[in-house]
Amino acid sequence: MAWDFSTDPEFQRQLDWVAEFCATEVEPLDLVFPGAAYSLDPKAKALADPLKQQVKDRGLWALFLDRDLGGPGFGQLKLALLNEILGRYRSAPVIFGTAAPDTGNMEMLAAYGTPEQKERWLYPLMNQEIFSAFSMTEPQGGSDPRLFQTRAVRDGDEWVINGEKWFTSAGFRADIIFVMCVNGMFVVPRDTPGVEIADYPALHNHIRYRDVRVPADHLLGPEDGARVLAQRRLGGGRIHHAMRTVAQVKLAFDIMCERALSRQSHGKMIAEHQMVQEMIADSYADITMLRLLVLWTAWTIANSSTREARTQVAACKYTCAKVLRDVSYRALHIMGSLGTTDLTPLQAMWSAAPTMAIADGVDEVHKVTVARNVLKGYQPHPGLWPTEYLPAKREEARKKYADLIAADPDLAAWADAAGRGRLAWR
Ligand SMILES: Cc1cc2nc3c(=O)[nH]c(=O)nc-3n(C[C@H](O)[C@H](O)[C@H](O)COP(=O)(O)OP(=O)(O)OC[C@H]3O[C@@H](n4cnc5c(N)ncnc54)[C@H](O)[C@@H]3O)c2cc1C
Repeated sequence: MAWDFSTDPEFQRQLDWVAEFCATEVEPLDLVFPGAAYSLDPKAKALADPLKQQVKDRGLWALFLDRDLGGPGFGQLKLALLNEILGRYRSAPVIFGTAAPDTGNMEMLAAYGTPEQKERWLYPLMNQEIFSAFSMTEPQGGSDPRLFQTRAVRDGDEWVINGEKWFTSAGFRADIIFVMCVNGMFVVPRDTPGVEIADYPALHNHIRYRDVRVPADHLLGPEDGARVLAQRRLGGGRIHHAMRTVAQVKLAFDIMCERALSRQSHGKMIAEHQMVQEMIADSYADITMLRLLVLWTAWTIANSSTREARTQVAACKYTCAKVLRDVSYRALHIMGSLGTTDLTPLQAMWSAAPTMAIADGVDEVHKVTVARNVLKGYQPHPGLWPTEYLPAKREEARKKYADLIAADPDLAAWADAAGRGRLAWR
């Protein structure tokens, strides 16, 4: 019997440690010194580095990289369980060396980088000596890569990049930017002349690349391979987001349930009103379904590949956004006026829901992927009626009992009644 929903006890002990460590070390840092874990400022590093060291000492650093890619080889399923805790805390992913956008970029480097490229960029990224960004979306068309125009032209020992990118997250503080050109993926140091970062949007940058020259060995993977690399990168990134979303919706759920048991209205606890109970029951089912989908997807990736799991990853992508939207809304609503303020995490969660439906590819595109892939497993029905057309099925099934029906008028009458659509139980 292979189905098993239990967690390996040894890993559960690690998870218990992570939960305790995040509550007592990571959350206080987030609340008092937000951003410290991402900073290279010496004072910030003095606060965050000892925490990162504790994670390394426990063997939990950079769990997203499997052994064949140079990581510790825990596999995606354990990563999913870990992310169910980390996703609750703003800087936990970076303190555990599993933060976007670096993780996806590292996956690309690990899978497609030459030994020299790994030495130069992968290991420094893994050690957070440098940070990175991913520049794919263009202002004229984000959801359709066929509209992208940024291109690199070979000039002697260099590539010259020209184009314009939009919404490059954390581009302003990245040391290197992975720039998706129509003819290849390039690693561009941010301080290269010609990389122009606009003042807004502040966090997700609008970047112009004007005659940006990089050495020939800054091409990652094959020439013309950008889309394959991007898919690899985005697939991994999406499932990691999904894992962390499970943590977010569980947090919303905890807030909602605690409040429902803490406050009275119209003569009883809020939790005793049936419409509140419905919101709690629906949220419980939504979260459980999302969690099982995410864990099943992680299991598929661990046992085959991200490519094999692409339909599931796409389903995770839009289900996350929907569950985050529904559960954070219900939690916010149950909190009443307090829910509308920024005095709890709920407002931020609620406003993250539409973002989640857009970032990493809009939901519509993922739904199309799921529908197309699922439909590949089906054929049109051969004649006028669907395969499940009951009169035809019943006629076919009668042949199995033809001898019995011929020999016994009682059974024949019964079968005839069923054939006329009557439920003649005996
Ligand atoms: C928080 C955040 C972080 C991001 N970080 C990065 C990053 O680091 N690097 C990067 O390169 N990009 C990043 N992006 C950009 C993201 O990849 C794009 O926003 C996304 O691909 C959609 O592109 P768009 O915004 O141009 O929307 P559009 O392509 O203009 O789509 C707008 C709307 O049109 C509709 N639509 C589009 N296509 C279809 C379709 N095929 N079928 C049906 N309806 C459709 C949908 O309703 C969609 O929401 C980020 C986005 C966000 C919100």
